[in-house]
Amino acid sequence: MAAAWLATLGLTGCTGMTPSGVTPDAPRAGDAAIPGEGDAGVGGLVPGSLTVSWMHGSADCTQNADPEVQVHPYNATTYIIRQNKCRTFEAPFVYLLIGSQSALSFDTGATNTQTLRDTIKGLIGTKPLLAAHSHAHGDHIASDGKFAGQPGMTVVANTVAGQQAAFAITTWPETLGHYELGGRALDVIAIPGHELTHIAIYDRQTGLLLTGDSLYPGLLFIPDWTTYRASIHRLAQFAQARPIAHVLGAHVEMSATPKVVYPYGTLYQPNEHVLQLTAAHLVELDAALIQLGPNKPAQPIPHDDFVIDPT
Ligand SMILES: [Zn+2]
Repeated sequence: MAAAWLATLGLTGCTGMTPSGVTPDAPRAGDAAIPGEGDAGVGGLVPGSLTVSWMHGSADCTQNADPEVQVHPYNATTYIIRQNKCRTFEAPFVYLLIGSQSALSFDTGATNTQTLRDTIKGLIGTKPLLAAHSHAHGDHIASDGKFAGQPGMTVVANTVAGQQAAFAITTWPETLGHYELGGRALDVIAIPGHELTHIAIYDRQTGLLLTGDSLYPGLLFIPDWTTYRASIHRLAQFAQARPIAHVLGAHVEMSATPKVVYPYGTLYQPNEHVLQLTAAHLVELDAALIQLGPNKPAQPIPHDDFVIDPT
């Protein structure tokens, strides 16, 4: 196992590597059967599987044989797609939610290739797609240009006004937004702080709460402390009133060992934390931010499953 320690900043990944066209991989050994759309789960939620072995880079990326993207079917109409860490150290997770009328993707990834778009196209068939973003950082919007102008595909503009228009958010960031995929309603919560256009999406059908870079098992960078604290508090209050199956963010940077983060920019995470967090993590984050108070701390604050990093 590679050594893991608290992150130090400054390294860069192999984002300049030339990707080759690769097909999405099949469910890996150990993947559970895919629950169907009509199956009722806990609290009336449609269940899904997170039994998956995510590709996690290589000690020597020249020997890495993983595909450009890994597609995991959470259920028949919900997909989680990870990009290869050897092609981008960010190795973001992209989400695809499909309704009876249309589909929504959440982020266009960290590499400017058409693989993600073609993968999504293959999963949605002829349904129209809204290519949405958690926020406007480069590792979440890199292949926007591959989606733009494609038949049936609309890309949300990377501005607050763009988020408001796409999701009918009347007053940013206080009021809830909505989106309807056909038999599948989404709530959209504006949560600026990590970045000013940041949103979270709640899928009422599955109870998945997609939190982008605002909460995930890794370094939670917080440039705007005041705004982030308010956003997380609003999000926690939203979640408290609803069934939450999983809290799913855009990256994994923690080790499976509590409080331990891989070095920033690493291309290999052999013992990484699972992707999924819970509503309890959101409560934990909110409580910690309240306790830390209005003044930005000078040092990162490690929790077992995430690190508050305002530095
Ligand atoms: Zn970000």
